[in-house]
Amino acid sequence: MKRGLIVILSGPSGVGKGTLRKRIMEESSLCLAYSISMTTRPMRIHEEEGKDYFFVSPERFQQAINQNELIEWAEFVGNRYGTPQVYVEKLRNEGKNVFLEIEIDGASQVINKYASSDLITIFLMPPSFDDLESRIRKRQTETEEVILQRLNKAQREMSLYKHYQYVVVNDKIDRAVDEIIHIISQRMTLNQPS
Ligand code: 5GP
Repeated sequence: MKRGLIVILSGPSGVGKGTLRKRIMEESSLCLAYSISMTTRPMRIHEEEGKDYFFVSPERFQQAINQNELIEWAEFVGNRYGTPQVYVEKLRNEGKNVFLEIEIDGASQVINKYASSDLITIFLMPPSFDDLESRIRKRQTETEEVILQRLNKAQREMSLYKHYQYVVVNDKIDRAVDEIIHIISQRMTLNQPS
C-alpha cells in the first residue's frame, strides 16, 4: 500500500475554505481523513473536542512547539493553530490522504518541508477582491480598523498563489467542489503503487 498524500487547501482569510472542505470530505472515493488541528482558540458552540480541534492552553501549545510536535503552526487573529505531526503520519501510513485546511503562513511551512510529490496544494482564490471584501465584511462583527487590517492581509495573501500546484476560483461552490474533487482523484491515480 502506498502512503497517503497531504492535501492542503489554503487561501486568503474569508475565501470560504471551511465550507468547501466540509463538502469535499463527504466524497468517500477520495479516501480523505481530516487533520484535526491544535488551537488555543476557545471552543465555539457546536464544536467538539477532538473532532473540530484539539483545544489546548497557550502553555500546552508552546510545549508542542518546543517538542517539535507540529508540522506547522501560525498565529491567526490572536490565537495559535497548528498541525500535529504524529496524527498526520499515522493516517498517511494507513493509506489515507490527509486533508489540511489551513491559513497561508502554515501552508507555506508545509510546502517547504515536504517533497511536492507528497503534496497536493490547492490555493482557493476569490472571484475578485471586491467579492472577498464583501464576504469579510458580512461575517465580521469587528471595527472598521480591524476589517481594514484583515483586508490588507488578504491582499498580500492573494499574491501567494504562485507557490501552489493548483489555483481554484471559488466562484460557485458546486463548481469549485467538483474541480477540487477532480484534482485529488487525478493525483490519486498517479500515486497508485506500480
Ligand atoms: P477558525 O478559528 O475560524 O476555526 O480558523 C481560523 C483560521 O485558521 C482558518 O483560516 C483556518 O483555515 C486556519 N487553521 C485551522 N487550523 C489550522 C492549523 O492547524 N494551522 C494553520 N496554519 N491554520 C489553521
